[in-house]
Amino acid sequence: VDANIVPIEGKEPGEQNLIVLLYDITEIRRLEKVRTDFVTNASHELKTPITALKGFSETLLDGAMEDKEVLKQFLEIMLAESSRLDLLVNDILELSKLEQKQVPMKVEKINLIEAVSSTFQLVKQKAEEKKIELNILEEDKLLITGDSSRLKQILANLINNAVVYTQEGGKVEVTIKKENEYAVIKVSDNGIGIPEDEQDRIFERFYRVDKARSRNFGGTGLGLSIVKYLVENLNGFITVESKLGLGTTFIVKLPIQSK
Ligand code: ADP
Repeated sequence: VDANIVPIEGKEPGEQNLIVLLYDITEIRRLEKVRTDFVTNASHELKTPITALKGFSETLLDGAMEDKEVLKQFLEIMLAESSRLDLLVNDILELSKLEQKQVPMKVEKINLIEAVSSTFQLVKQKAEEKKIELNILEEDKLLITGDSSRLKQILANLINNAVVYTQEGGKVEVTIKKENEYAVIKVSDNGIGIPEDEQDRIFERFYRVDKARSRNFGGTGLGLSIVKYLVENLNGFITVESKLGLGTTFIVKLPIQSK
């Protein structure tokens, strides 16, 4: 709390009064911290692939490139690290655009079941490799208005996470139903789950329950922050329910008729 103390003359001669102004700056401080943490974390995340690129290219120039096998292996690693850098920069830019509300939301008719089916196509191969079953449960037929590519971006992130954080032989299910003026889309998996005390934090930028694991799966740690922004920009809500070791459900509520 910041305070300002202003002395004022009282009614009686010689009487001194004080006005004490208290400002609640917790929210301002919190936002400042979010921003500085973001810069620190982003720099740290960017450093990892940059360090790898530098190290491998130096080693190659120091003579390792004479060996064709090593050359190929190192170049492949460098390509993978460059792709990671690309993903990170794209996500960082996307997040900052969303934050500045520079992303116009279109108003189109969206058939939810079609949006979910086409998103399933994107993860189909990964799901097949892990023998994960993909299901859609359409409790209500829903046509909503909103930005269709943004909705697909939300679905792609949630469904991809569900496949990534579920063990072989697991199940991912998307349920669509109507609740008053909202379309409710639930993305459920029976995967590794999220510890209760971390469930609030997963929407924070770069927050991961298991950093190493998420990086290995190619995650940037920004997906859910982007999803949350998108859902809110579409005037919706997102929540999570999860039991460690049993699975996770993300619940997205979007207005059926967007304003
Ligand atoms: P990432 O790129 O690391 O997946 P996200 O922002 O998409 O970043 O998710 C943040 C973290 O939330 C993940 O690192 C993971 O720990 C956790 N998480 C997200 N979705 C799931 C899920 N379906 N099951 C278990 N954990 C999840």
